[in-house]
Amino acid sequence: MISRVFVIILFLNLWAWDNARAQGEKEFIKHRIEQLASPGFHGRGYVMNGGNIAAQYIADEFKSYGVLPLGQNGSYFQEYDFSINTFPGRVFVQVNKTVLKPGPDYIVNAASSAWHSKKRQKMKLLDLSEVRDSLQWDSVKKSIKPGGVYYLTGADTPTNKLSLGIRKFATELPEGLFIVPKHGKLTWTANTNKVPGTIVYIEDTVLPKKPKKVLVNVDTRYVDVFKAKNVIGYVKGTEQPDSFIVFTAHFDHLGRMGKNALFAGANDNASGTSLVLYLANYFAQHPQRYSVAFMLFSGEEAGLLGSKYYVENPIFPLQQIRFLVNLDMTGDATNGITVVNGVSHEPEFALMEEINADSVYAKKINKRERTSNSDHYHFSKEGVPAVFIYGNGTKPHYHDVFDLPKEITLERVDGLAQLLIKLTGRLTEE
Ligand SMILES: [Zn+2]
Repeated sequence: MISRVFVIILFLNLWAWDNARAQGEKEFIKHRIEQLASPGFHGRGYVMNGGNIAAQYIADEFKSYGVLPLGQNGSYFQEYDFSINTFPGRVFVQVNKTVLKPGPDYIVNAASSAWHSKKRQKMKLLDLSEVRDSLQWDSVKKSIKPGGVYYLTGADTPTNKLSLGIRKFATELPEGLFIVPKHGKLTWTANTNKVPGTIVYIEDTVLPKKPKKVLVNVDTRYVDVFKAKNVIGYVKGTEQPDSFIVFTAHFDHLGRMGKNALFAGANDNASGTSLVLYLANYFAQHPQRYSVAFMLFSGEEAGLLGSKYYVENPIFPLQQIRFLVNLDMTGDATNGITVVNGVSHEPEFALMEEINADSVYAKKINKRERTSNSDHYHFSKEGVPAVFIYGNGTKPHYHDVFDLPKEITLERVDGLAQLLIKLTGRLTEE
């Protein structure tokens, strides 16, 4: 007969062991998020070689785990290129006498051209709040003098009323400097285009009461051929090596807006990258019946360019992918996880829920229909069974300078890792 005390001790041991493992998972992921989002990786974007420093880091990690290369010519890399507008030099904005902080106080539209004020320049006020149709918009556009300096109020009206969108709005402006006060969160992007104007969005609470004069110095460099790399590795299946379970995440982020504004992208997407690295390390030690591949894409922020290139130039036939899980923004799963495409992949979604019975791993698993906002998209379009999982966290930081490692809670990220490990096991059982 097994003694009660022994059972309790056994239980306590298991609990301690489980706790230690959870600690290990979180530590592993935390360390890698801190590395990838550190200043030396320069926001894993388009300046100071940030993207390629990150690619090399991931390849070195793969190698140290014993994950095999699955890129070109026996390497971990798949190289390709695209054009991108970058901000490698000065980014300086002063309104009246107030010098503003790049990032928290203002962002420069990512497609902007350079602008160099020799001295403070007087702004011409242009109110767009009355622009309600394209005829009115056309006549306002005609009134804008190329090379002029404008303070644009009510800019939300034409973007909303004419559904221009921020990107389209920027393409409609001529050469010139456009200061646009904005209320609420500033969100930066990456842009493969360049527009004639220089557009600066300023958080309205930091503006002086009567903004009259402005001094702006923005250096830009349009890179026609930016060389990027996807990083790809795999663990060979023990019984059906030609069938693959694939984990993907984008490792790139927005880089730097000038020397002083670092977009570290800790949650977007050092978190998903680090979770994929955790899985790569795990599966290297626990090979499955199928092969398990790990694809870390670049160019996501510029428009899903890395995964698009991969899908157009697959390393092995796309039909061999039994299931693909894309992880983007998984640093905090306090309120559960959401599975995009969970609706169209009902059996796999049901399997996840079954594994998660009684909310063991995730507090709640939500499902959503198709979206085009991350790297699962091009795979889905080609008929690859693919889902995109993100964490339902507690922090609002997104595409801003506050997306930092210290903001990542890692709440229930260990549970997500375990759920994905169990899911892989079940999917490769048959
Ligand atoms: Zn993003």
